[in-house]
Amino acid sequence: MLYEPDPNLVVYFQNRFVPLGEAKLSILTHALHYGTGVFEGIRAYWNSSERELYLVRPGDHFARWRANCGLLFIDLGATADELTQLTIDLIQRNRFETDLYIRPIAYRSAARIGIHPDDRYDFALIAIPYEGYMDSARGVRAAVSSWRRVEDTAIPGRGKICGAYVNSVLAGEEVRRNGYDEAIFLTESGHVAEGASCNIFAVRHGKLITPPPSDNILEGITRECVIDLARRELNVEVQQRSIDRSELYQADEVFFTGTAVEVAPVVEIDHRPVGHGRVGRLTEELRRLYLDATHGRLIHYSHWLTHVYKPVRGGAPA
Ligand code: PMP
Repeated sequence: MLYEPDPNLVVYFQNRFVPLGEAKLSILTHALHYGTGVFEGIRAYWNSSERELYLVRPGDHFARWRANCGLLFIDLGATADELTQLTIDLIQRNRFETDLYIRPIAYRSAARIGIHPDDRYDFALIAIPYEGYMDSARGVRAAVSSWRRVEDTAIPGRGKICGAYVNSVLAGEEVRRNGYDEAIFLTESGHVAEGASCNIFAVRHGKLITPPPSDNILEGITRECVIDLARRELNVEVQQRSIDRSELYQADEVFFTGTAVEVAPVVEIDHRPVGHGRVGRLTEELRRLYLDATHGRLIHYSHWLTHVYKPVRGGAPA
C-alpha cells in the first residue's frame, strides 16, 4: 500500500488531533531502536449509495490491540469503545468519503539509549485513503519462504509487535525478488503457518482447512469472518489443524485473508498451479460474501460494521 503522505492529513498524536507534518518523534525513541511498538490495521469501506463509511469490526480490532499491548506492558488507558469513538472523530475531522486503512500504533516512547524500557509509552491513530494491496480478483502467486515464522517462545506472532515484522519483511522481500507476490511461512516444525501479512486457508475434499493459533499465526479477524461465512452461508465444514507444505500443493484451492488483502485467491505456489491454476469456486464465493458483508450489503452481518457518519448526519461534515 503506497501512500504519499499529505502533511495536512489530521492524525491523533500525543493525546490530540494534529496535522501529520507536526506529528514528530525523537530519533532516540525506544520503539525505533528496539521494535517495541504494537500496531493494528482496520478497514473502513465507503458505500456511495448509502453515502456512509463502515468501519469493519473496530471493537474486535481494538480489543485485540489492548490485549497485545499488554504483552509489552503498554496500557492504552482507553476502552475499545473509546478507541472506536476516537477513530470516528479522526475520520470525521478528515471528512473522508473513500475507502480507508486505519493504523493504530502504540509504542515505547522513552528517548534514551538502552533496551531496559521505563514506563513511558504513547499511541497514535492514522487514517489514510486506501488504494488496494493485492490484485485479489485475478489471484496471486505465492512461494514458501526459506525464513521460518517467529515462534511464540521468541516473539509472539499473535502480538502484532513491530519488531516481529522484520520476519515478514525478510520473507516478503525474498519471494518478491524471486518474482512472487506473497510469502508463505512454515513453522520451525515445518507446518504451514500463514502469509507474511495474512492468514492462509486451503480447500481439500470439499472442506476448508486453516492452521490453528498454536501454529504461530496471527489470530486474524478476517480469518474469523471467513470461518463464520463458510459455516453459516455456505454450510462448509471448517477445520483448524496443522497443514503440511505438500498438502498445499495438493489442495484444490488456496487463499489468503487479511484486513488489507481481504480474501485473495492463490493460483500458484512454488511453480505449481493450485487446482486448475484459476480462482477456485469456493474462494470466489467467500471473497464475494466477505466484500458484500463489509460494504454493508448483507443485512445479517451489519453487526460487524460501525457507521462513521450516520449517527451525526445533519450536523455531519459535508
Ligand atoms: N497475519 C499477519 C502476520 C498479519 O500481519 C495480518 C494482518 N493484520 C493477518 C495475518 C491478518 O489479520 P487480520 O485479518 O486481523 O487483518
